[in-house]
Amino acid sequence: MRVVFLGPPGAGKGTQAERIVNERKIPQLSTGDMLRGAVAAGTPVGLQAKAVMESGGLVSDDIVVAIISDRIEEADCQNGFILDGFPRTVAQAEALDGLLKEKNLKLDAVIELVVDEGALISRIEKRVQETIAAGKPVRKDDDPEAFKQRLVVYREQTAPLSDFYAKSDRLKTVDGMMSINEVAQAIDALLDAV
Ligand code: AMP
Repeated sequence: MRVVFLGPPGAGKGTQAERIVNERKIPQLSTGDMLRGAVAAGTPVGLQAKAVMESGGLVSDDIVVAIISDRIEEADCQNGFILDGFPRTVAQAEALDGLLKEKNLKLDAVIELVVDEGALISRIEKRVQETIAAGKPVRKDDDPEAFKQRLVVYREQTAPLSDFYAKSDRLKTVDGMMSINEVAQAIDALLDAV
């Protein structure tokens, strides 16, 4: 099963994707995690991506499309994958369609977590507090200014994807303001219907 999760930063995509990984035994492909890994490892991609990520902007389409193209070739993606944080622009969504077509694969579901933007700011503040309480380092792009910038970028560059997938009748939406369990149930119902 090949699934795309859409939704602004802090909507709960990562939380839901992690659960599905365990339950359905398919990997979560988070371009954000992969890019953070590249930054930490100091690879050429990481060096290019670091500053733009910290400011809340988007890394170039070419870089992330190449990362995903390689990653979905790997053995653990044979039975499918969950894309979390990719695609993030219409150009990336078109590239993904092209990549999958070349490999004779199709997307089974595109699920958008619809959330209230005001509530996201409080969610992210909570995530920061929990991270600090757990003694873990806080992501630089989770600081309030960078986070707000990520929301602006989402609105401008990623929100148009809802229309892109709706036009081809592929978009399903879930109310992301429900409890984590309720969101999980709604997503499972959609995935079970695939
Ligand atoms: P995330 O963990 O998904 O919120 O991603 C963290 C940061 O990584 C984003 O704010 C972007 O700078 C970068 N990033 C992750 N995925 C993409 C993508 N598909 N396209 C461009 N930049 C991305």
